[in-house]
Amino acid sequence: MKKTVLALGAMAPEEMAALGRLFNVIELHKERDPEAAIRENARDIVGIMTVIQPVRENLIAALPNLEIIACFSVGFDHVDLESARARGIAVTNTPDVLTADTADIAVCLVLNLARRICEADMFVRVGKWQSGKAMPTGTALAGKRAGIVGLGRIGQAIATRLRAFEMDIVYHGRGAKPDQPYEYYDDLESMAQDCDFLILSCAGGAETQDMVDLTILQALGPKGFLVNIARGSVVNEGDLLIALRNLDIAGAGLDVYAHEPKVPEALLTMDNVVLLPHIGSDTLETRAKMGQLVIENLRAHFEGKPLLTPVMT
Ligand code: NAP
Repeated sequence: MKKTVLALGAMAPEEMAALGRLFNVIELHKERDPEAAIRENARDIVGIMTVIQPVRENLIAALPNLEIIACFSVGFDHVDLESARARGIAVTNTPDVLTADTADIAVCLVLNLARRICEADMFVRVGKWQSGKAMPTGTALAGKRAGIVGLGRIGQAIATRLRAFEMDIVYHGRGAKPDQPYEYYDDLESMAQDCDFLILSCAGGAETQDMVDLTILQALGPKGFLVNIARGSVVNEGDLLIALRNLDIAGAGLDVYAHEPKVPEALLTMDNVVLLPHIGSDTLETRAKMGQLVIENLRAHFEGKPLLTPVMT
């Protein structure tokens, strides 16, 4: 008999179909009454697949036979690891396969902000160029300094890409990485002060919550740009709105927000921001690889084999 997996969100149709061939899948987002669906299947559910939906203590507690939580993401800040650990529940994620695409999106945001690509596109579409108006001038990237917060897999891929634009790279994290050729700052405020682009690619969660606040943004300064592809929680969103409104910083490129899919109203009318709907890893190729990794982790677990990419076992 197939084991039952609770899917909190949807992967691509091909991967959902593959999941369905191996497991009895309850697609919670399709259920009329999700709470009733969980209650009625509570004893059967042995696995959870989450795209980015929270897996908190109450959900874990409601599933007495849960064995594994498979995240369709590299980040796992939406999973209550303590509750999972206490019950011996395995957690897996999808590292590496999404590194290049997510780094590409960070670079897209840097280029967009520097060269005002979205603004320029609109400038042509609404006929301003054709009617002789002057497009505001952009900012050069060559010779500018990018400060990367979290020089992990994605942070390093961003650094490699930005070097090709002749940018100077520095970084901040929990510790210096002697194998990396870039200068390390143990103080985020000092790094923000010294860089032109502050790029967030660190893990989300309690440790990095509100790490970028008004003090850091003011240190970045009126010519500095913020790029966030990490998690919305890393930036104090209220402080970011103040900094953007007061021109304490030049602009921001955001792929992630504090309360997704909600985007603060105020951002929608600002010219100095580029807003993306959390598309860091969203390419056909990468989403397929992420889905396959989720399925292979679930399969390995239930076949008693080692997990491919465990967060914890
Ligand atoms: P990773 O290799 O584990 O790198 C995470 C980095 O975060 C590490 O360099 C780590 O620093 C740093 N970090 C952790 N806690 C920190 C702290 N308190 N202060 C400063 N830095 C801290 O993970 P990854 O694969 O590069 O992914 C990074 C993050 O990107 C994920 O956690 C996820 O939230 C986000 N992401 C977003 C998208 C998107 O669609 N926008 C897609 C994929 C991933 P140390 O090296 O010093 O330990």
